Amino acid sequence: DVIIRASQLAKTYAEGKLKTPVFDGLDLAVSAGETVAIVGASGAGKSTLLHLLGGLDVPTTGDIWIDAEFKGVRACWDIASLPDAERGRLRNRALGFIYQFHHLLPEFTALENTMLPVMLAGISASEARKRATALLEQVGLGARLEHKPGELSGGERQRAAVARALVNTPSCILGDEPTGNLDDRTAATVFELMLELNRAKGTSLVLVTHDRRLARRLDRVLELTNGRLRELPPDDV
Ligand code: ADP
Ligand code: ADP
Repeated sequence: DVIIRASQLAKTYAEGKLKTPVFDGLDLAVSAGETVAIVGASGAGKSTLLHLLGGLDVPTTGDIWIDAEFKGVRACWDIASLPDAERGRLRNRALGFIYQFHHLLPEFTALENTMLPVMLAGISASEARKRATALLEQVGLGARLEHKPGELSGGERQRAAVARALVNTPSCILGDEPTGNLDDRTAATVFELMLELNRAKGTSLVLVTHDRRLARRLDRVLELTNGRLRELPPDDV
């Protein structure tokens, strides 16, 4: 039951004559409900990989298939070959992103930030409000609905980002160092929250992290080196 399949991905950044090949021939399959950690040295290409999986960028060659209900059809969609606007809509429906820095919109409240992906999916404001409120309560921010990001602590902002990433019930969360900016205890809380949602809703997790203690808690740990993914034996994590 694979929900994300990347096959023979190659990505080369080109700026004038300067070419930076990041990977060439990378394969990855993520199953429904599976939790995967991506580790690797700085500059190995972890962020690039996550951007490709989420359709924020397109590979130089290779395919990325996302199993999702989109345009009324449950199918495997080739995210890289969709027109930009459709790629954005598929991403908004099927995937949730969490970054190291929260990327909440500063002028909107926690509630409005969390409602936004629902409204972008064409669902009514009242339904969006209902879903966003329930999720914010679930992440412990029931008393912070009307706070703007600048009025929340780092951990609260990151929990709001988790709520926003989950509000369209994506089949997969893609996290780029989602707890990297938090102190150990807050990081553990946000991490537990993601694991709990994985258990409760079967949401897959693909998390880039340099925290081996957290990585060890996931089903598989993949190390990105020399442009390839290699599964680390549990004892090496
Ligand atoms: P990681 O997340 O593992 O630290 P990145 O995916 O950010 O690695 O970067 C991988 C390589 O690609 C690095 O050498 C980086 O300098 C290069 N790179 C990343 N983004 C760009 C870009 N937009 N243009 C050119 N090179 C880039
Ligand atoms: P930096 O990577 O230097 O922090 P930005 O703040 O512009 O630069 O972007 C932060 C992250 O947000 C990047 O990983 C970028 O790819 C991502 N991003 C950019 N545009 C969008 C978008 N429309 N939707 C979701 N993520 C985006």
